[in-house]
Amino acid sequence: MSEKTELSPKMKKLIELAAELEDLGHVNALLGWDQQTNMPSGGAEERGLQMAAVGRIMHEKFTSEEVGALIADLEDEIGDLNAETDQARSVKVAKREYDKQTKVPLPLLMDTIQTTTMAHGAWEEAKSKSDFSIFKPHLEKIVDLRKQYAALFEPYDHVYDPLLDDFEPGMKTAEVKEIFNILRPQQVELLQAIAEKEPPDNSFLKQHYDEERQEIIGRYVITRFGYDWNRGRLDLAAHPFTTQFGQGDVRITTRYLKDDAGSALFSTMHEAGHAMYAQGIPRKYRRHPLSGAASLAIHESQSRLWENLVGRSKEFWTFLYPSMQMLFPQYLANVSMEDFYRGINKVQPSFIRVEADEATYNMHIMLRLEIEIGLMEGTIDVADLPEIWNAKMEDYLGITPPNDSVGVLQDVHWSGGMIGYFPTYALGNLASVQLWDKMLETHPNIPDEIAQGKFDTILGWMRENVHQYGSKYEPQEIMLKATGSKITPEPYIKYLNQKYSDIYHL
Ligand code: MG
Repeated sequence: MSEKTELSPKMKKLIELAAELEDLGHVNALLGWDQQTNMPSGGAEERGLQMAAVGRIMHEKFTSEEVGALIADLEDEIGDLNAETDQARSVKVAKREYDKQTKVPLPLLMDTIQTTTMAHGAWEEAKSKSDFSIFKPHLEKIVDLRKQYAALFEPYDHVYDPLLDDFEPGMKTAEVKEIFNILRPQQVELLQAIAEKEPPDNSFLKQHYDEERQEIIGRYVITRFGYDWNRGRLDLAAHPFTTQFGQGDVRITTRYLKDDAGSALFSTMHEAGHAMYAQGIPRKYRRHPLSGAASLAIHESQSRLWENLVGRSKEFWTFLYPSMQMLFPQYLANVSMEDFYRGINKVQPSFIRVEADEATYNMHIMLRLEIEIGLMEGTIDVADLPEIWNAKMEDYLGITPPNDSVGVLQDVHWSGGMIGYFPTYALGNLASVQLWDKMLETHPNIPDEIAQGKFDTILGWMRENVHQYGSKYEPQEIMLKATGSKITPEPYIKYLNQKYSDIYHL
């Protein structure tokens, strides 16, 4: 059946509801953006209340019996409609979300909001004092609440499935474990081979790089990539992120470290990758049930693709390095492009996930996944986390954190109740290479284009194969459509081996 079919009154109603919820969601996003960029610290408490108020209105609007009846009627109505139409998919997406949200009893929801609000403050204090005991009782409560949440979705294959599914629709714990089981030994082997070689010098990056010039190069690069400034802006925030208040306003943030020229530049590319995905969702899905992204892993595939496959490639620096040398002659005039390229790709096991290089990054994720699964299965106690964390770091990366602040307390996720989120980072890495490889089959001249500073073929391919679907398809459906395969580790392993064989002469 054609998509041009006149929408039924009920379908119109669903779209109106989605539009209203999206408006409210964007109001909250704006409050959140302001909170992280401009708000004085004194505003924190009331801002938290404001955001919770908007969230509550959204929840009440969406989980009403009326909406349930509307979705049920629409399921009957579209019964004979092709399951691939936007209408059928809109109902499917709404039903999935409705079933999830209405399963959660209000007391559990309120308890979770209260607990995570308190936990966030405790986590900040624990991290700053490097004292896990401050965070421990909060995390114990959070794990308990997450177990109660998972129990609502019985029967499941694995207790971690309902949590994972919130971030990666349709993905199962068994699938992730299988992928990581293939990935782990191969990445360990690569890291061992790298460790035996002379590391490249990257001291030229750790100098006093002028902030204004860092900003100039960052803005220049993402403009060339195709970030649309008429529908975006770049601000400063302590932790780089992307947010949007509609298709016409997709913002990114960054931070400039004076003694690390790479940090802001690569994180700006990363956030621009997220933002270009959001800017690429078609106009027809504006204020619509399918307006979102497919999943966090698909989102991360876009950010990692621009940051790593483009931004850390030799071709890219063939294009950009002369400009970089001109902006920072005092540090780079005597550094060859080849040495610069090797320097920005130096592999070094480190404590902090967000600063990890491509060869070690996934190890940080595997460690977290094992801990999260253990917590949910009840085989790991919160009290033992610092010890378990450090043992796994030693096991995977050969280093032991000197304190919990750079160990078990480093990430914000658990304080917010976000258990199940981490695997999407690694899955995004894998997906980025699969998409890249497929794109190169059709456009083998892309590396040459990159060397000339031309990026529109890449963005065009992503628009056509990923962005155009919004949240119409589940992540694995998008991967199948775009690459002919679900998320799989082999292309990523091959990519890492090739890249580091060249850089480290393995
Ligand atoms: Mg990201």
